[in-house]
Amino acid sequence: MNQRFVEVALPPPLPRELTYAVPAEYADDVYPGTVVLVPVQKRLVTGFIIDDTTPPASLDLKKIRNIKQIIDAESPLTPEIVNLCRWMARYYVAPIGAALAAALPPGVKLSTQRRVQLTRVDKDVHGKSIGESKDKLKVRILEQLQTNGTLKVTTLQRRLGRIGLEKVLQQMKRSGSIDILPVLEDAEVSVRLEQHLRITDPNNIAEKLPALTQRAPRQASCLRYILKHGTPLKKTVVDRGFGYGIIRGLVSRGLIETVEEERIRDPLAHLDVGPNHPLHPTDDQKTVLVPIIEALNERVFFPALLQGVTGSGKTLVYIQSAERALEQGRSTIVLVPEIALAWQMVRRFKAHFRDKVAVLHSQLSKGERYDTWRQLRRGKQRLVIGARSAILAPVTDLGLIVVDEEHDTSYNQDDRENTHAIAYSARDLALVRGRLSKAVVLLGSATPSLESFWNAQTGKYQSLSLPRRVDDRPLPKIEIVDMRKEPFQRRERTLFSLKLRKKIQDRLEKKERIILLQNRRGFAPVIQCSDCGESVQCLRCHVCLTLHRGQPNQLLCHYCGYSQPEPESCSQCGNVNIRKVGIGTQQVENALLEQFPGIRVIRMDVDTTGWKGAHDELVERFRAGEADVLLGTQMVAKGLDFPEVTLVGVISADTGLHMPDFRAAERSFQLLTQVAGRSGRGDHPGEVVVQTRLPEELALQAAARQNFTSFAEQELAERRESGFPPFGRLIMVRWWSQEQGKVEIVAQQATNLLMQSRPQMNTTVLGPAPAPLALLRGQHRWQALLVGPSAGSLREWAVKAIGQMRQIATASGVNMTLIVDPQNTM
Ligand code: ADP
Ligand code: ZN
Repeated sequence: MNQRFVEVALPPPLPRELTYAVPAEYADDVYPGTVVLVPVQKRLVTGFIIDDTTPPASLDLKKIRNIKQIIDAESPLTPEIVNLCRWMARYYVAPIGAALAAALPPGVKLSTQRRVQLTRVDKDVHGKSIGESKDKLKVRILEQLQTNGTLKVTTLQRRLGRIGLEKVLQQMKRSGSIDILPVLEDAEVSVRLEQHLRITDPNNIAEKLPALTQRAPRQASCLRYILKHGTPLKKTVVDRGFGYGIIRGLVSRGLIETVEEERIRDPLAHLDVGPNHPLHPTDDQKTVLVPIIEALNERVFFPALLQGVTGSGKTLVYIQSAERALEQGRSTIVLVPEIALAWQMVRRFKAHFRDKVAVLHSQLSKGERYDTWRQLRRGKQRLVIGARSAILAPVTDLGLIVVDEEHDTSYNQDDRENTHAIAYSARDLALVRGRLSKAVVLLGSATPSLESFWNAQTGKYQSLSLPRRVDDRPLPKIEIVDMRKEPFQRRERTLFSLKLRKKIQDRLEKKERIILLQNRRGFAPVIQCSDCGESVQCLRCHVCLTLHRGQPNQLLCHYCGYSQPEPESCSQCGNVNIRKVGIGTQQVENALLEQFPGIRVIRMDVDTTGWKGAHDELVERFRAGEADVLLGTQMVAKGLDFPEVTLVGVISADTGLHMPDFRAAERSFQLLTQVAGRSGRGDHPGEVVVQTRLPEELALQAAARQNFTSFAEQELAERRESGFPPFGRLIMVRWWSQEQGKVEIVAQQATNLLMQSRPQMNTTVLGPAPAPLALLRGQHRWQALLVGPSAGSLREWAVKAIGQMRQIATASGVNMTLIVDPQNTM
């Protein structure tokens, strides 16, 4: 038989893949994802099999080393995920180790522990050897193993001391009485085990009961209890009813035994969603579902953009598609951008699918995520709703991926100051994974990203649309209010225009509900001396500190978390007249309480949603009618469905308009359209008031007219001109260091290098230049953008240059990272 060779990915800081030979005895157990122990120089290291490989002719085959051992039968990574990771590594120009790390369940580390277990020699033999052995340490090891099953070497070291232990263990291994196995270490998570009682011989138990009832009536009734409630049964339950003595009696008679069962931590166990009210799809929904169901039935890759106006009923399309996938025995992944939205989606899915729904997001505990992850891996759960990283969930036989609000930037993982993390787009991965698994990929949005819109226009995606709201409810009426023309009130600038104030009052009287958006948290984003104009900045970031009202008042940096007490006077000139500039959610809340006596407000922003389940609680309290107003940052704008809301107010639409990013207009348009879409979703028509000092902006005008197509066409024309996405592709290079001078020099040198290796074909480098956030967490930041017409040629260019660029950066102690398709160039 031919010798098999495989490529093995090694964990950082060993960034490379190495080739190993597969010894004959492992030939049947090695596939992509298998965790193995391999020699690297003089050490043994854990790695993942990537795939079979043919070593290059230049390599001396005899020098290729063997895989030492297979570690884990149930590898945490499936071949499908390994395949996806290989694509990620190639596409995002990153080591495969980084991609694999992103796909590992939280808390699992790529390192090994040694576990010791007794060999399958008859228990008596071990018993005898204890008796005969003169070696005290050996006896104690055997005792430990007999009471505990298997134990980590580190545990034995802790219990028995290190002295002589290793030597004795090795002796025992040689003599065949124990095995020492390497296992993948779960550093922070573990399988939770529970003791259960099981009837040893259920077939013959009926015969034994009468005799037992005579001799030990209480044991007999305990046995009947276990029989009645199902075996195995949780030990603590039996213990509570009958006491430990009875259990021990039954065990010693050999009638029952103790077994360990895995306990699955289910974060949704206590979520009460009430009864389901099934909906019948409207004609529009039915039309859209036809090609989706067809593609599921035919098991083909089917990428589709589901463009449906706000309130058009996209969720029901998701649910019915998932239903079909489940019927086929295939899995569904539903991605949602916000935790607040995750809860709403979970509730809707759970009402329909009950305990078939699993959830994965960062607010769950590591243990909960780990258990969910394993249930998916084993095919015991087939429907998972989650945030961005759920796209890497190890579901089996994937049939459907839903990306709800596909335009949302939260789908981009660009952990900017982490050199090892891989920056990916979950939406784009959804398409790649869908193609690999021949699945349906539904990208849903009322305001698609221009990239997806363009892909649908050019036929790369199927174009599905829901052009009307359910029941032909009208879209809300949007009015723009020019705040420059508002009269001052009591010589102060006003937070609420006359129009908005009147409408709020009106809704309070009618007992209809209101959503208010102000996309800034805190009280005031800038604190400025009214004399010398000095504003208070973060020392570590190039941004102003935000004033937060509290006990006591504080100035807070929203980028690094730095905080200081509110100053009483200007640090430059000593003036005590300090102005608060700009508006945060806290200030809006204050103003509401002052100006509308008795008003009930729920504020939802990062500051009020810090704990687990907070989003769900606030949203459900609002749904239950505990407040008149839901006020918040962009969290309140996305996807939430409250039929009683008939008024949406945007306190200031200007916050995002002039961000130094080419997508600023697109983002503003999306946010405004989305928040407007929260209004009038029930029986009463909705209204929207948008306050601004920049009423002529295209994004505002287009949002007010609720005309996505006209906005997209104008914006696309500009993008075409500049060669920016979707017409061109971008790769961003970013450098950072505590030393400003060094970053600048490195960025210049590296950019020169990029210019020299530039392929012709319309490619350019923009920059280098300081990043818009030039100082962040004490790091000075520079960046350059590679722009070109095709992703392939850009990537080739980057791959060619990256080695030398890294060298330049490393030599000066400067950090560098590459972000393919950057969504945020700040
Ligand atoms: P979208 O996500 O497109 O904004 P939703 O899925 O939240 O819209 O649906 C909007 C509202 O319409 C929800 O309250 C939902 O319950 C209701 N709805 C959706 N489909 C139907 C239907 N076929 N019949 C009746 N009501 C529906
Ligand atoms: Zn800061």
